Amino acid sequence: MEASSANPTDIATRTEVALTEQPWVNPRDPAKAVGPDGRPARSRRAPIWADVPDEQWDDWRWQLSHRINTVDEVAAVLNLTDDERAGLTAEDKFRVDITPYFASLIDPDDPNDPIRRQVIPLGREAEAFTAMMEDSLAEDRHSPVPGLVHRYPDRVLMLVTTQCASYCRYCTRSRIVGDPRQNFNSREHEAQLEYLRRTPQVRDVLISGGDGLTLAPKLLERIIRGLREIPHIEIIRIGTRVPVFLPQRVDDELCEMLARYHPIWMNLHFNHPNEITPEVARAADKLTRAGVPLGNQSVLLAGVNDCVHIQRALVHRLVENRIRPYYLYQCDLVEGSGHFRTPVGKGLEIMEGLRGHTSGYAIPTYVIDAPGGGGKIPVMPNYLISYSDHKVVLRNYEGYITTYEEPPTYTPHDKSTCAYCQHERPEPGQSGVLGLLEGERMWIEPSGFEETHRRGAIEAHRLQDPSKWVPFGVGAIEGRAGKPLPVLEAGAEANGGGAAPGKAEYGPGEEPRPREGEPTGTAHGELL
Ligand SMILES: *Cc1c(COP(=O)(O)O)cnc(C)c1O
Ligand code: SF4
Repeated sequence: MEASSANPTDIATRTEVALTEQPWVNPRDPAKAVGPDGRPARSRRAPIWADVPDEQWDDWRWQLSHRINTVDEVAAVLNLTDDERAGLTAEDKFRVDITPYFASLIDPDDPNDPIRRQVIPLGREAEAFTAMMEDSLAEDRHSPVPGLVHRYPDRVLMLVTTQCASYCRYCTRSRIVGDPRQNFNSREHEAQLEYLRRTPQVRDVLISGGDGLTLAPKLLERIIRGLREIPHIEIIRIGTRVPVFLPQRVDDELCEMLARYHPIWMNLHFNHPNEITPEVARAADKLTRAGVPLGNQSVLLAGVNDCVHIQRALVHRLVENRIRPYYLYQCDLVEGSGHFRTPVGKGLEIMEGLRGHTSGYAIPTYVIDAPGGGGKIPVMPNYLISYSDHKVVLRNYEGYITTYEEPPTYTPHDKSTCAYCQHERPEPGQSGVLGLLEGERMWIEPSGFEETHRRGAIEAHRLQDPSKWVPFGVGAIEGRAGKPLPVLEAGAEANGGGAAPGKAEYGPGEEPRPREGEPTGTAHGELL
């Protein structure tokens, strides 16, 4: 027996058995991440909750009922600054409430922590600014019944509650959100449904609030079923931040319920890569397995994510979790958000840093929600009518023209202290226009283009920065350490035997066009 076990055939058989017994685990799947103890990975827990048993910590009801909101409770988790103490003790402030899970993600000693800035108020929050409005999107004016905003021809926003799992300092709807006296009840839900039954042009309903996923599960299901009983409603979407603040809420019961009412889509709201934890990865995985496509809406916030490299890291973490970036919102002109506002140019710079630099799937549409209520306007040339040093003029799809007032002050993102800027993913020779915007240089010299009418020169230009093709983090292609790839001479063989060396094929100003039998990609790609 002993001797035969060394037999190679035997070893192969045993390996096969081992393979079938232990299913292969995909190490790249964020939802499968394991911790040092070999069990599903967990994010950090603040010391004051160290003794809470896992069953309680993982119970969304426990998380909701143990949220922190007073200055003493927050001070037990974070070392507060004077500005934060002023914010937390201010009268009349927008509601504070933070789940223990979300509060634990904050670095207790870093006053600039991006999660902290989203949920801990500052005294500065109370400062007013010009163009500030209570209801900057004129939602109340577009509501035929309380809580139902019918702004677009074929879709509505249905506010089903004013409650959230935690509260964001920049909330667009701070005029009603968080206020239990302004909550919507079953009678209002019924009035909203009744309006929808009588309005057949509505084919898409966006459930929001507040946050619909904070409703009692039975109540949420009653609303969704009420919508599904209306034949002209094609899709239902839920806009929610619960999977960010309280991923524990995404349990089997919720996913099974949602799957009964398809097609259901969901838009989440992540603003920073630090929010994407192993708990979030498992919640997103559960939802997508239940057939719910996931999108993400972020808000561009000074001091949180006003950085090309943070945004790139965020969208990469999102697509890795099968969450498709949907919108990047310019911060609304709402009370309390003054210190979060960035110029529109910041958003354009971020978009410049995404398109081409990363997968198309990872790129959101940058929008301004029109002040005065014109809906979401993409910040693109055909919608951007004019731009001064303090105003942006835009038009919506109907021709409605509005303005967005730029913030009077903006403290630019500090690259020297930003870990994402310090460890940016290198893109040799590919920074392009982003390099100009970021101030790396003032112009791009069209070197290599001097003789663009000569095919050979075009080829030489394409290869002139070989570092572009060096494997990331390796340094050089196999065995060629430090030695760049050879630069081809103009008119060398590699041009496919087109022009004879040194002989121009096209006259100056003439456009090189593909000739019969030539692939068109080359001419196109090189010229644009
Ligand atoms: C955002 C929003 C919608 C949905 O807009 P999409 O661009 O389709 O995502 C619908 N109604 C209102 C009032 C909204 O604010
Ligand atoms: S989750 Fe949404 S509705 Fe709730 S406070 Fe944050 S931004 Fe406002």
